[in-house]
Amino acid sequence: MHKFNYKSNNLYCEDVKVQELAERFGTPLYIYSYHTLIDHFLKLKNAFKSIDPLICYSVKANSNLAILKALADKGAGLDIVSGGELYRAKKAGIDPKKIVYASVGKTEEEITQALKAGILFFNVESIPELELINKIACRLAVKTNVAIRINPDVEPKTHHYITTGKLTNKFGIDFETARIIFLTRNDFPHLDICGIHIHIGSQITQSSPYVAALEKVVRFIGQLARKGIDLKYLNIGGGLGIIYDKETPQTAREFSKKVLPLLRQANLKIIMEPGRFIAGNSGILVTKVLFVKKTPLKNFIIVDSGMNDLIRPSLYGAYHDISPLTRTDGKNHIHLKYDIVGPICESGDFLAKGRGMPKVAEGDYLVVFSCGAYGFTMSSNYNSRTRAEEVLVFKDEAFVIRKRERQKDLIRNEIIPSFLLGF
Ligand SMILES: *Cc1c(COP(=O)(O)O)cnc(C)c1O
Repeated sequence: MHKFNYKSNNLYCEDVKVQELAERFGTPLYIYSYHTLIDHFLKLKNAFKSIDPLICYSVKANSNLAILKALADKGAGLDIVSGGELYRAKKAGIDPKKIVYASVGKTEEEITQALKAGILFFNVESIPELELINKIACRLAVKTNVAIRINPDVEPKTHHYITTGKLTNKFGIDFETARIIFLTRNDFPHLDICGIHIHIGSQITQSSPYVAALEKVVRFIGQLARKGIDLKYLNIGGGLGIIYDKETPQTAREFSKKVLPLLRQANLKIIMEPGRFIAGNSGILVTKVLFVKKTPLKNFIIVDSGMNDLIRPSLYGAYHDISPLTRTDGKNHIHLKYDIVGPICESGDFLAKGRGMPKVAEGDYLVVFSCGAYGFTMSSNYNSRTRAEEVLVFKDEAFVIRKRERQKDLIRNEIIPSFLLGF
C-alpha cells in the first residue's frame, strides 16, 4: 500500500499536495512518504514474525540519513556495501551489532573501519578476502564473525544486469570452495566463520528462485552439520521485486509462506537484506516540463530531470509510471505517444520512450513513480547538474532531508594547479 493518491484531481503524498511541494522546493524533487516506507518494512517484519529475523535494510537503495534513522527506529538493521555506507550508518546512530557488510571489493581501510566499529558480520566473497580480514583482525587483536557468500547458481528471472546468483556473476563463492573453507575454518583464528549468505539478484517477482537457492543452501547446511560444523546465521539477502508497471510480485506474506519451511529447517538466526521492497514505492520524483517538441518523426516532452537524477531507464531500460501532477477531468486521456527526455547531451537520456501521455504544456509538473530506491542514490553531477532536493513527508508536514546542491558544491574539491595560474 502506498500513500501517493489523487484526491479531487491532485496528487497527494500522505496529506500534502505534491504540487505545493514542487512550488515550494523547486524541481527536480524527490519526495518520500514516511508511512509508506515504514509500512513496507512492517509488512515484511510481520510476515516473518514467527522466526523473528533481523531485517537489514539495504542502504544502497536509499541511503539518506533520515531514511536510515526512520527504519532503525522500527528495529531495522543495515546491509552496507562500502566504508561510505558504514560512515552513514554511524552518523545515523545505528547499532553496529545490526550491521552486515557485503562487497566483492572491500579495501583494507574499509575492513579496518568495520572491524573497529564492531559490526555483526562480514559477508565474504572470496578466499583472498577471508585471508585479508583475518590478517587485519589479527593486527587489531579482535575476532569477527564472518558469513560466506555463496553463489548458488540459480536463474533469478530478472534483468541480466541485476542477477547476482549465477556462476558467471562476480559475486560469492561456489559450494565446493565454500565446503573447503568451512572444513578448514580453524585456519583463520581471528574469524568465526559462522554464517552463510546468499543474494541472488534484484527485482525478483517470484519465489521460485529463492526456493531453489534455499533448497541448495539448506542441504549444504545439513551436510556441514553432519561434519560437526555448526553455524549461527543464514542471511538470505534481498531482491524482492515491486510493482513498477504491470508486474504482479509476490507479497511479503506469499514470499514468507514459500520460504518459511526451509528457513525453519535451517534453524539459524535469519538475516534479510531488502532494499527496493522497502524504499522503492515510497518515493517519487517530481519534474517540470520545459518544452514540448515535435519533430517529423517523434514527439518529445523535455523535462528538467535527466539521467543524472534518475538513471534506471537509461541503465536498465527500466519502466517508471509517469503522470501529470494534476488531472483535468478525473482521468488522464491519452493524447499522443511521447519520448519523455531530460536536458542531458546523451541520446540515452530519457525517462520513458513511446509513452502515451495526456496533453501537457510547458510549466506543467510530471510525477515519476516508484523512485524511492536506486533513484537519488544513483544520481550524479553529470553535465554539471546540481543534485535534486529530497523531502520526507510525515502526515501533513514535509521535511527537507537533503538540500538541493548549489553550483559552488560542484567545484568544492577542484583545484587549478599553480602552473596553470602562471606562478
Ligand atoms: C543490493 C543488495 C541488496 C538489496 O537488493 P534489493 O533488490 O534492493 O532488495 C541486498 N543484499 C546485497 C548483498 C546487495 O548487494
